[in-house]
Amino acid sequence: MSAATVPPVKTLPDAQTVTAVRHWTDALFSFRVSRPQSLRFKSGQFVMIGLMGDNGKPLLRAYSIASPAWDEELEFYSIKVPDGPLTSKLQHIQPGDEIILRPKPVGTLVHDALLPGKRVWFLATGTGIAPFASLMREPETYEKFDEVVMMHTCRTVAELEYGRELVESLKDDPLIGEMVGDKLKYYPTATREPFHHTGRITENLRSGKVFEDLGLTPMSPGTDRAMVCGSLAFNKDVMEVLESFGLREGANSEPREYVVEKAFVGDGV
Ligand code: FAD
Repeated sequence: MSAATVPPVKTLPDAQTVTAVRHWTDALFSFRVSRPQSLRFKSGQFVMIGLMGDNGKPLLRAYSIASPAWDEELEFYSIKVPDGPLTSKLQHIQPGDEIILRPKPVGTLVHDALLPGKRVWFLATGTGIAPFASLMREPETYEKFDEVVMMHTCRTVAELEYGRELVESLKDDPLIGEMVGDKLKYYPTATREPFHHTGRITENLRSGKVFEDLGLTPMSPGTDRAMVCGSLAFNKDVMEVLESFGLREGANSEPREYVVEKAFVGDGV
């Protein structure tokens, strides 16, 4: 092996190399890392990632994989919590740096946990869009459903930009663009700034505004499936709304009409 082909020495356990970083706002960034050859996952799952802590022990947090299962690299979409043990450091990573990635994917936001249906709703706040960034690029999503509705709510318009750009890029995607066609309906809302759509996901579902705006029939358990990812309070409120439409929570072991995952632990923003 010549010197040029010697791989860099891995200094961290389960080390992966950062290949790209993009900052979206003062509090949000996304990054891509190399993918361990052994890692098989289902679009929508999460893994533990992190950095070496000051005490010499790995400092790990749960992160949804934002890239689809077929991607050669892994993408993540992250908050920057001021004084957050991990993200106060992670936000400074640069291409070429290493992070720790435990290759053990888990999670409930997977197609197997839903019964077959005609329409699937992806309901997210903040960084809760990460698993759907994966699922919106997953061919199975379009094989299984005739319509896909992505509702994403943030406080400001700038916080919606990662999702907007991703959705916009899908139609030109050489791998998935044709499958997506006009199946994907995108409904972003801002809650604290003027925008073409405003209000919380729960309000827009309860009032029927989202059905009216998108020209869709109301949700029904015979046709509709949903996946939810946000704060604990958001998840609880959305679950109530989904149950009022007659949908029931499912799991990998017992597929039903909707599944839920928390986007973080704690009160959050
Ligand atoms: P922590 O000590 O972990 O958190 C400090 C406080 O910040 C928390 O109590 C909470 O109130 C708030 N907070 C943490 N994460 C968020 C967030 N994402 N949005 C708003 N407020 C938050 N985070 C991501 O940024 N992207 C992901 O894809 C992601 N996926 C997750 C999947 C699961 C299943 C879970 C349980 C959490 C996920 N998180 C995700 C949260 C992540 O694990 C960390 O909490 C986050 O990276 C902050 O780490 P920290 O050590 O800096 O602060």
